[in-house]
Amino acid sequence: MSPQILDNALDAVGHTPLIRLDKIAKLNGLKCNLLGKLEYTSVGGSVKDRIAKAMVEAAEAEGKLIPGKSVVIEPTSGNTGIGLAMACAIKLLNTTDKGYSVIITMPNKMSLEKEAALRALGAEVIRTPTEAAWDSPESHIGVAQKLQREIPYGIILDQYRNVNNPLAHELTTGPEIIEAVVSTPSTPAHPSSGKVDVLVAGAGTGGTITGISRAIKKTHNKDCVVVGADPRGSILALPAELNNEDEGLAYVVEGIGYDFIPDVLSRKANDIDVWIKTSDEDSFPAVQMIMRNEGLLVGGSSGSSLSAALQWLNGDDGKLIAGTPGKNVVVVLPDGIRNYMSKSWFLKIALEAEPTPLAKAIKDILRPV
Ligand code: PMP
Repeated sequence: MSPQILDNALDAVGHTPLIRLDKIAKLNGLKCNLLGKLEYTSVGGSVKDRIAKAMVEAAEAEGKLIPGKSVVIEPTSGNTGIGLAMACAIKLLNTTDKGYSVIITMPNKMSLEKEAALRALGAEVIRTPTEAAWDSPESHIGVAQKLQREIPYGIILDQYRNVNNPLAHELTTGPEIIEAVVSTPSTPAHPSSGKVDVLVAGAGTGGTITGISRAIKKTHNKDCVVVGADPRGSILALPAELNNEDEGLAYVVEGIGYDFIPDVLSRKANDIDVWIKTSDEDSFPAVQMIMRNEGLLVGGSSGSSLSAALQWLNGDDGKLIAGTPGKNVVVVLPDGIRNYMSKSWFLKIALEAEPTPLAKAIKDILRPV
């Protein structure tokens, strides 16, 4: 498509690139194609822009949002909130007092960067205890429900239950991945099966993995292997015994894993074929691997997706695909480092990495004589 003037930021949601992660594939001895779906290039900075746009537009079409009155309240780990605040900032015409206000409830562990972005977009932000169980009144969900009961015209679009969450991915993220793979020809330098053979994504609400899986399996390749990444400490993985050992363990990666099963996460065996448990210890080095080798400034859960992909490809079920040139393995990279610049895990990989030979040479040159 030739460049065009867009009406507003919502027109720049999605349409993200699928990028070869060739150096990482080579470093890990993979013969298959490893491809990253780079969601931080969406205008609000994450994969969740897509569902925010879809949920607001659907609610508007159904007459559930009343300009000048509705207050959009949402419990989120931040990225859905940023998408909603962006959508509502566009709608909110302060001079005429039309549009929607936004209140975001968010657990304490989520980054200051997300809170700052939300406030910059005009949202109110309420922090809740990270350790509160999802169904307790103190949790981000409980507090959102209390506010909704008390605030006139308060509405929770509810990403955990809203069909437009997985649907947004079935209609946009999935088709974009399929189109990129199908329309890239197989060449001697880059052989391709012409299909998405494996899809790897982390799950929070589960909307991303469920929706992309449906798009691929219904319209493109019913035999695609869909691999879910679930952090140790969360209970989303199946079979459930995978979660037993670490249930309740705290982890630092944001946006994936829960202590309840969201309605929008498909439990049908065929939608998500395999689950891999991930950890902070695997995820952050994987982020560093992506930054150093591919030049992509991704966030923490992107490291979880990559670490799950590498675990699966190195295991018994994945070995054949890993060793077959042309097989396409797509890894969803949900957000970027903008959200985590002040987090100690990032400062560690950025500033405390082993000095390179070049750094040592510079030190020698600049040493006072
Ligand atoms: N990674 C990040 C950084 C996220 O914010 C989210 C959304 N919670 C996810 C992954 C998982 O996406 P989903 O909710 O669609 O499962």
